[in-house]
Amino acid sequence: MDIEIKIEDVQLIMGDLFSPGFQACLDSTYCGQCEDNCTSVKIEKLWLNHLGDVIVEGSCKKCNGKTNRYIETGEHAESYDQAMAIRELQIDLLKCYNTRF
Ligand SMILES: [Zn+2]
Repeated sequence: MDIEIKIEDVQLIMGDLFSPGFQACLDSTYCGQCEDNCTSVKIEKLWLNHLGDVIVEGSCKKCNGKTNRYIETGEHAESYDQAMAIRELQIDLLKCYNTRF
């Protein structure tokens, strides 16, 4: 299950890696529609999966095609812990979150 997060959450998860790492990821995304290897993504939604990875759901700034960018934040221990804390908070305490399977 993925939960919807906000850009502030991504900032918390990535910590020192957020700037300029996050934008760099967005600017080097593969788009299946126009087959550009490093197009830029316009963010529509942000998701956090159970592995602590962030998934950007958005559109290609070049062709406007649907594009997803997978950011492996879960591979960093600190980011993983922060991601799990956010998941726990949203799921257990707030109970107001969007999910997808
Ligand atoms: Zn494209």
